[in-house]
Amino acid sequence: MGRWFASPLLAAVVLTSQIFGQTAAPAAASLSGVENSIRQNVTVATIKETTASLSSDDMQGRGTGQPGGDKAANWIAEKFKSLGMKPAGDKGSYLQKVDFKETVVQETSFKSGEESLSFGSDYALVPENNGNKDVSGSLVFVSYGIQAKANNIDMLEGVNLSGKVVILTQGPPPGFPEKDWNDKKFGRAIQRNILSQQPAAILTIGNGQGGEHPPEEAINYMSRRQLSLPDEGGYPEGFPPIVYVSTKGAEKIFASAGTSLKDALTKGGNREFKAMDLKTKVRIVAKYKTAKVTSSNVAGYLEGSDPSLKEEAVLFSAHYDAYGTENGKIYHGAADNALGVGEMMAVAEAFSKMQQKPKRSLVFLAVTGEEYGLYGSKHWAKNPTWEIKKVSADLNLDGIGSEVYGPVKTMVGYGGEHSSLGSMLDDLAKSMSLNVIADPMPDEKVFYRSDHYSFVERGVPSLMLLGAPDGDKQIWIDKIKAWEKTDYHSPEDIIRDNWVWEGPETVAEVMGILGWRISEMSGMPSWIESSRFGKLQRGNNKELPPEP
Ligand SMILES: [Zn+2]
Repeated sequence: MGRWFASPLLAAVVLTSQIFGQTAAPAAASLSGVENSIRQNVTVATIKETTASLSSDDMQGRGTGQPGGDKAANWIAEKFKSLGMKPAGDKGSYLQKVDFKETVVQETSFKSGEESLSFGSDYALVPENNGNKDVSGSLVFVSYGIQAKANNIDMLEGVNLSGKVVILTQGPPPGFPEKDWNDKKFGRAIQRNILSQQPAAILTIGNGQGGEHPPEEAINYMSRRQLSLPDEGGYPEGFPPIVYVSTKGAEKIFASAGTSLKDALTKGGNREFKAMDLKTKVRIVAKYKTAKVTSSNVAGYLEGSDPSLKEEAVLFSAHYDAYGTENGKIYHGAADNALGVGEMMAVAEAFSKMQQKPKRSLVFLAVTGEEYGLYGSKHWAKNPTWEIKKVSADLNLDGIGSEVYGPVKTMVGYGGEHSSLGSMLDDLAKSMSLNVIADPMPDEKVFYRSDHYSFVERGVPSLMLLGAPDGDKQIWIDKIKAWEKTDYHSPEDIIRDNWVWEGPETVAEVMGILGWRISEMSGMPSWIESSRFGKLQRGNNKELPPEP
């Protein structure tokens, strides 16, 4: 009896496999033996140890130009050495010195009528503008400063702003889409328009609606010590101070003029609003102290195995600096970016253990001064310790910590749309059952905000990797945004008990295997012709057109 059943069953099996063969997506190429060994050699232990050591109190927040930063640089250099890397810094060392100018506020005051505002909680001055200031003038409130005559809106009508202290509400007005406002750069245009009238100062206040980046956030950054490259020019001499004022500070200012912030915002929210002379005198004084400080990038390399290709390198980068120590508080920078350095260290360790060596050399670069403007990577890109024309690609890590939310199932490759690195990431992700998605927060312009961009400017195809968990992306994007409000760039960025460490492990595996694939290519990765970087060549010295 069995036989009667046997043949139709067999036919069914054949048939189903044919159907599956036709409809299923082509099977992803599985990882090669070497690639699997990279995976095995990437360890959570190294990621954890590096992250914990660098974010410990002992490292004092790895401040650029502070002792904690130097301590961290030496710690990383020791690790590089212990992994068998050769030095790729200055004069046979692992360190590349970078000079900085440090600026701190020495003395400042802000008086509005009879009221005094407190620096750091009520106000702070835009730091690029930090020549000593002593300005006074009478207050004019212009609300959003919108002039759209076609729509019968002119908030500056009939007012002369020359020599005045202008109070400007940060847009967009309620009901106006924030994205549109930002994309069209309305805020900047309005500020430029007011500046053209030569006011004594511009005070920026919030509109009480929260918004993505309220003045309180700017004040938090601007009241800390500032670092820049020594030759970097600020605003021209005599430029009026631009001052951010918190809600608390704004309340004091309007009270000093015999009115209230609430009242002013209500009037200012009206499209018929006209600028108001508040008939109150303001004086703002700021004196700064500058000093020369130094910090170091840390660079090492594992030599390639191919006699000619080893002249070329795959560059791995992650910034190790955080905000250091300020007013007795330590800015630990655990997710940002001790974790990224930890992942990069795990990649370096994995390669150091491998029998089969990559054809190209692998350069590992832990940079300083990122938080103040990508300074360490800019310095390296201008003074590369590996010939820039022979840097095949950069793979960068800079954390906002989304890879610890759970096992990583999603990857973002910032910059992938500009070079062949994007499709290489797509291919690898398929083999690792990961889902690659486009930049989930395009408004934040992350691509322009981390170290890989310094290498892009010199024509090197670059990719920044971000890992995230499975499921609805809105859930982890909301988590990132909440974290940005509470922990990011604050003393609260520390290792948490609920971090899922296999997430960072996956990110390191992706970085390592992608680096391996780049090292084994016959040529180097290339820019996509239609990209705005399509014409770039490695070694580019021309300034790039401004970001869109
Ligand atoms: Zn960072």
